[in-house]
Amino acid sequence: MYIDTHCHLTFPEFDGDRTTVLCNAKKAGIKKFIIPGVSIGSSHTAVSYVNHFRSHPRVAGAPESWCFASIGCHPYETKNFPDVRLLEQHINENVVAIGECGLDYHAYKGFPAIGKKDEQKQLFEEQLLLAIKYDLPVIIHCRDAYQDIFDVLDALPSMPRGVFHCFSGGPDDIKHIDARGFYFGIDGNVTYSKQLAITVPLIPFHKLLLETDAPYLSPIPHRGTRNEPKYIPLIAKKIAELKNCSVKEVEEQTTQNAVQLFKI
Ligand SMILES: [Zn+2]
Ligand SMILES: [Zn+2]
Repeated sequence: MYIDTHCHLTFPEFDGDRTTVLCNAKKAGIKKFIIPGVSIGSSHTAVSYVNHFRSHPRVAGAPESWCFASIGCHPYETKNFPDVRLLEQHINENVVAIGECGLDYHAYKGFPAIGKKDEQKQLFEEQLLLAIKYDLPVIIHCRDAYQDIFDVLDALPSMPRGVFHCFSGGPDDIKHIDARGFYFGIDGNVTYSKQLAITVPLIPFHKLLLETDAPYLSPIPHRGTRNEPKYIPLIAKKIAELKNCSVKEVEEQTTQNAVQLFKI
């Protein structure tokens, strides 16, 4: 059994065929999904969707244990984030993490609500404190901001648990992340990234998590099309190649890691 620890199943890209996507993933061996929010609105949608499964287990033919929610505000949404209490009010037994949240210093056009560095840091810190308060793991989004993320984490009253989702750092970042007890989320870009071919072998096996970040980051040979959780085995296959082990070992270890971190 595989777990997709990061898929945006509530995004509009799946509006036409969400149930089919879930069923196809199940056929491919993916049995559990964590759906992260990236804003107040999408966090609310993720929680409502998961609650719906829990209260109507027969809807869409899906057993109730399939989907879990994570609530958070992405750095791209910084200026649209009025108050951390609007996130806090959504926490219930179906919410297994806080995030995605973090820092993104990569210059993107087309994200008018992205915050300045200080604004991003404040929003990130508020969500980390929420994770600590509720003893939930945190799903961290980080682009070109590893040192600042470490600084924010180290200034907290205690170190939260969590994952650097879609890990894209270098060998030194691996050491710093591992020293803080965090996990590493690996996505479809592992099938073509030269950097990940170098770094994935350096990541401790017991800290690896599989995630698609669907609908983004499709693995080869589906690059350029909508990503889906059913492609998780392609990521596992590439990791097995890089780690010089069997795909079965990757499946079992990453599932165990996800269960350990998210308690799902
Ligand atoms: Zn992200
Ligand atoms: Zn994401």
